[in-house]
Amino acid sequence: MLAERDQLQARLTELQGRPSGVASAPPALGDAPRTDHPSDQHSENSGDLEQLIASTGIDVEDLLSRLGAVPPGQGGPYVALEEAAPPDAQRAEELQKIVATLPLAAPLDGFEIESPFGGRADPFTRRQAFHPGLDLVAPYRSPVYSTAPGTVTFTGTKSAYGKFVEIDHGHGIVTRYGHLHRITVTRGQKVPAHFQVGELGSTGRSTGPHLHYEVAVNGQVQDPEKFLQAGKNVVQTIGRN
Ligand SMILES: [Zn+2]
Repeated sequence: MLAERDQLQARLTELQGRPSGVASAPPALGDAPRTDHPSDQHSENSGDLEQLIASTGIDVEDLLSRLGAVPPGQGGPYVALEEAAPPDAQRAEELQKIVATLPLAAPLDGFEIESPFGGRADPFTRRQAFHPGLDLVAPYRSPVYSTAPGTVTFTGTKSAYGKFVEIDHGHGIVTRYGHLHRITVTRGQKVPAHFQVGELGSTGRSTGPHLHYEVAVNGQVQDPEKFLQAGKNVVQTIGRN
């Protein structure tokens, strides 16, 4: 027991000593300790960041190219992808910017997943239907928080969603919060991560108090659970810095 605790403590110290904040999730107890060579730090860190972003289902190269990190191939002479890739330090910096704007926080302080993203039996018709978000259960009127910094682009009632808030996080990433009891932000408002946007409710097409939470990238809904899971990995590694 004591040995395990010492091992954990050593692992924590190692993570805290890392030059750039993000690393992969700690290995399970009993795994061989990682041997990091200082010269590998850059490539390892951007590798970790890329892995983290990729775990959400986001296309890392696409996002980097839209950030301007990779020069567009149009107009100029043909540039091989290898040559166009920025130096690794710059790449790590761009990746860190992306990670900082990803919706990795949870929209509620505590919750249970009532209904996952994807195919499910519709709660009203019992027919198979596509669920474009995640239904999270928490006590009625629990505070609902923004999951990343951004700008509020919609507040109001939106048919089945009931009282609804949408936030644009940039890079084509949008989060949506439905069935709210009350909305506490206004359209155009800039919000940090974990800023209260409303209270959990049951407005719209809802069978009981819950939050319908959506993440969209370039207009396509993604599985919010992947972002929450990636968020847990970040908290485990940089949350103590
Ligand atoms: Zn839902």
